[in-house]
Amino acid sequence: MIPMVDLRRQYLQLKEEIDAAVLDVLDKTQFILGPNVSELEAEVARYHGVPHAVGVANGTDALLLALRALGIEAGDEIITTPFTFIATAEVAGLLGAVPVFVDIDPKTFNLDPARLEAAVTEKTRAIIPVHLFGQPCDMDPILDVARRHGLKVIEDCAQAFGARYKGRIVGTLGHAGCTSFFPSKNLACYGDGGMVITADEETDAALRVLRNHGSAVRYTHSTLGYNSRLDEIQAAIVRVKLRRIDALNEGRRRAAGLYRKSIRRTGVVLPYEAEDCRHVYHQFTLLTDERERLQEALTKAGIASAVYYPIPLHLQEVFRNSAACRHGDLPASEDAARRVLSLPMFPEITEEEIQRISDVINGATA
Ligand SMILES: *Cc1c(COP(=O)(O)O)cnc(C)c1O
Repeated sequence: MIPMVDLRRQYLQLKEEIDAAVLDVLDKTQFILGPNVSELEAEVARYHGVPHAVGVANGTDALLLALRALGIEAGDEIITTPFTFIATAEVAGLLGAVPVFVDIDPKTFNLDPARLEAAVTEKTRAIIPVHLFGQPCDMDPILDVARRHGLKVIEDCAQAFGARYKGRIVGTLGHAGCTSFFPSKNLACYGDGGMVITADEETDAALRVLRNHGSAVRYTHSTLGYNSRLDEIQAAIVRVKLRRIDALNEGRRRAAGLYRKSIRRTGVVLPYEAEDCRHVYHQFTLLTDERERLQEALTKAGIASAVYYPIPLHLQEVFRNSAACRHGDLPASEDAARRVLSLPMFPEITEEEIQRISDVINGATA
């Protein structure tokens, strides 16, 4: 069986260090906002070359708190992509803000910058570009629209930790970058965790208050906040992996290169990789008109595959009242949802496994 992600292989490689880090937390018993959380914040900030990073409970809260910290309120419109995980738009809705979905560039699966400006209204306050599957969005035109209209840019980097756009690390291009340490993400822990990075001191201060019940000084509360702190044990685990994140991402890029060499089936479109970007392959996602046939053949051969995402957000019941909510409204996203197929992808996947998977794809018959 080849799974989509094999977390055990990485754990066994890092076991000694991770076990020691976890035991050290248990030994020190400083479980809430302890030294590992502040060290990890400093290390993640340094990795990105920005002054601030704030640990929170998960990637969804990273987005939610970033929107709050940047002043998003009920009634504000937030432009984002419909081809993403629900969390990206869910957080806008939870604040009473309105997600406005703009169609994707079918080549990159990311928000199409050419369609962005037409969606801006006087109520628009922010854009959430999502670097989907590890591929950086084309940020320059997005930032340009944001600057012209005075909009905040919150990057959803949950699938793209360490990816680079024209040499710059994603998460540092807008006002805040949000990441998730969910176990299957490129930089991950063994439970839930997340982080917001920002160059702005005021945003950093607001995030620290929001994650801790609206409190900067103990038992003094300036706003309604959340219990959304990054767990100390999870922070200790992420620190072990952060030291290796570039090698882990290289492992994914190596696997992607092997897939590219081995998959030869006509009609299958391999993932696009922009020359001036460093894609970090959270997923290796094909476009195919034969999705069912290929999935069937893979399953028969004991190989996992997955569809991210089968229903674009503008067609989800929860967003039935959004401006574009009918079939056909955002055709590129709907077409991608019908034709995408993600293959097993993790840094430790072997050349032999990729060959086996590719052989099944190349040889699948009706
Ligand atoms: C995983 C993910 C999130 C949410 O992260 P959690 O830690 O699961 O809350 C948000 N956006 C995208 C694009 C994701 O893939």
